[in-house]
Amino acid sequence: SPMIEARDVTYAFGETPALRGASLAVGAGEVVAVMGPSGSGKSTLLHCLAGILRPDSGEVRFDGARIDTLGEADRSALRRDSFGFVFQFGQLVPELTAAENVALPLLLRGVRRTPALRAARGWFERLGLAGMEHRRSGELSGGQAQRVALARGLVAEPRVLFADEPTGALDSLTGEEVMTLLVDAAREKGTTVVLVTHEARIAAYADREVMVRDGRVNAPAGVAS
Ligand code: ADP
Ligand code: ADP
Repeated sequence: SPMIEARDVTYAFGETPALRGASLAVGAGEVVAVMGPSGSGKSTLLHCLAGILRPDSGEVRFDGARIDTLGEADRSALRRDSFGFVFQFGQLVPELTAAENVALPLLLRGVRRTPALRAARGWFERLGLAGMEHRRSGELSGGQAQRVALARGLVAEPRVLFADEPTGALDSLTGEEVMTLLVDAAREKGTTVVLVTHEARIAAYADREVMVRDGRVNAPAGVAS
């Protein structure tokens, strides 16, 4: 069965329908790019898959089990223990150093500070961030901050990495560098990735692309669904 799956999911923000029967199944180890115009429902779909939002109707399954029926505490534990997240603009905690930011998911899982920071620092060299461990987000370039955010998404070896426009705030060369690092790290660990982007050049790094339009998921033009 798929690693993560939405079946016929609907979601509305008040009167605004964001998803109108969206279905998407992502296999273990697969890297899928969710594309589509602004406002089509990409972020909402990602948030439903990741257990951040609960759909109004339909099903979300992780590793075969329903997660949309879980309460807030169980979904929060699931996100902490099984999922990693990378967002646009990185969303680093400004008061913390880069290494502390990367260590956060481990600390939340109960790993002690010293081993958590050791594991966090292990990511800096491979992501081209050697020497940046003690900087705060305001002392990093956009590309550096986004690589720190990537390390934070991967440090706890999540089963699924959710990335919402992870290169959206970067220039094209830096964005491609971040995508290369993301996809290489995911493949090395067999991490399943669901990536939202509106840029074809970024989606090209994925194994598969799907299009969201008006709250539904379609195969890209020219591909039978
Ligand atoms: P995308 O990620 O493709 O840009 P979104 O999933 O963010 O699309 O949004 C889908 C629709 O839901 C849009 O009409 C958007 O304006 C609306 N929407 C998204 N988030 C909110 C929110 N927090 N409150 C109200 N409407 C929202
Ligand atoms: P994205 O498409 O990546 O979600 P947006 O800029 O559309 O980025 O949305 C940024 C934030 O604003 C999100 O938290 C989203 O839920 C919220 N948002 C989007 N559209 C609306 C809206 N119409 N009303 C209120 N909040 C919205």
